Amino acid sequence: MGRWIEVADGVLVRRYAELDLSVGLVVGGESCLVVDTGGDAGQGAELAAAVREVTPLPWQVVLTHSHFDHSFGTEAFAPCAVWAHRGCRADLVATGAQQRETWARRYRDRGEPDVADRIAAVRPVLPDHLVDDSAELDLGGRRVGLRHFGPAHSDHDLVVHVPDADVVFAGDLVEHGAPPQFGDAFPQGWPAALDGVLALGAATVLPGHGDPVDRDFVRAQRAELALVAELCREVAAGRLGREQALARSPYPEEFMAAALAR
Ligand SMILES: [Zn+2]
Repeated sequence: MGRWIEVADGVLVRRYAELDLSVGLVVGGESCLVVDTGGDAGQGAELAAAVREVTPLPWQVVLTHSHFDHSFGTEAFAPCAVWAHRGCRADLVATGAQQRETWARRYRDRGEPDVADRIAAVRPVLPDHLVDDSAELDLGGRRVGLRHFGPAHSDHDLVVHVPDADVVFAGDLVEHGAPPQFGDAFPQGWPAALDGVLALGAATVLPGHGDPVDRDFVRAQRAELALVAELCREVAAGRLGREQALARSPYPEEFMAAALAR
């Protein structure tokens, strides 16, 4: 079960204990936009019911990126427009089955067979409204911008900007409560992507995991990510040893090791 936090008029974030996940809802005058759909059909259905408690308006979905916890609940909303970066669709085609298998196994190994079964049963819904660099949506009296700032947490991160509410949903470009995840990341591009987020000028930034944050938090995370990028460059150039890079990293060893492996 999740709980809604209204961060601005008609802009809500729904928080989950599982993975500290945050998904979003933007309500316009004629339609609403669901930002990410959770990690399985059960989570998606719970979210869809929760959206219906907020608004009866027709919905569209936008996926910030392809990782299962953000994209595997979409079936509960179909049929509807599903927006995402072009690379998100390609990645779901390429890795959807593998993500399903990997995460079902992890939850089973963790002693959570119910979650494992739900993930194993997911039929990923492929986005059908594809974005390259940017797109504008009109929800009826409320415009929403979808923006891609280059490879960073993935090669297809999309952020959702609600200018009239001074809010941006940043997906996993920003993490609160845990370090950024580098498994599919492009450490060299990440600081510039956060420059793009900051340049939108929004006062409130909603991470894909954790609580809402402000611009100072994003600036601080940008500085940490710039250090990670620099350490990766130094190691690649042979000017710094791997152990030294791990020691100087702002993040725990497993995270920096993942960044160095990219
Ligand atoms: Zn992610």
